[in-house]
Amino acid sequence: MFKHIFLSLPPSPDKSRAASGISRLSRISEKHFTLIELLVVIAIIAILAGLLLPALSSAKKQAQKIKCTGNMKQCGLAINFYTDDWKGYFPPVHGVNPYSSPAPATKEWWQYLDDQNMKREYLLCPADPAVQEGFDDGIVDAYDWSTRESYNWNGMYSFGQKKDFLKDSSKRLIVSERADSGDVLNHQGYPAFKAVGVWEGKIKKDRHSKLSNYLFVDGHVESLNFESTVGDRSESRNMHFASEYLGSYLP
Ligand SMILES: [Zn+2]
Repeated sequence: MFKHIFLSLPPSPDKSRAASGISRLSRISEKHFTLIELLVVIAIIAILAGLLLPALSSAKKQAQKIKCTGNMKQCGLAINFYTDDWKGYFPPVHGVNPYSSPAPATKEWWQYLDDQNMKREYLLCPADPAVQEGFDDGIVDAYDWSTRESYNWNGMYSFGQKKDFLKDSSKRLIVSERADSGDVLNHQGYPAFKAVGVWEGKIKKDRHSKLSNYLFVDGHVESLNFESTVGDRSESRNMHFASEYLGSYLP
């Protein structure tokens, strides 16, 4: 009897709703996206990608600039260590340290920083195309990427000079970013006693968007527009120049 009563009960409301829900779901799952719906989804994804990609690219460029700034600061520390070791004299841009005895073999400026146990990676800017390509210039030679650098040494006023004789070390720059067309095999530096037009081609003026990084003698690094570093190209406004060393060499 109990069995009969149980079987004759009407289905519970919950069970009936569940059954109808399953049925609806199966109907929905059978429905396919229309072409227009698919295109709308694709369009939304494209718009989102368009919004996000520039932000990601900008973040990457900012990170490269920060890394380059840190690397240049490390170069500044190594320059300080060098001048401490060599009675205050700057390292040569290319050649023999005139103050060592006996004189060592000819070296590039950054090899003198090597002597201060500076890591090679501090000579590389992550935004330098040559660094990104691994310096693969297709030339088989005695050099490899680990002996190359992204930066220029400013030999304009520093060669054979004592750092302490500089009147304002916070306004005189000593390292800049090397131009893409520069010779990555050999020493990079702009030599002393040359006018602005002679050496400015060695500098990459827009490595980081419209700016490049510059290391100053006091060790600080700034991202600057090149024109602001030479001012009106007069000796007093030119951050690449130090008239207390050179006198008047500019035309
Ligand atoms: Zn850089």
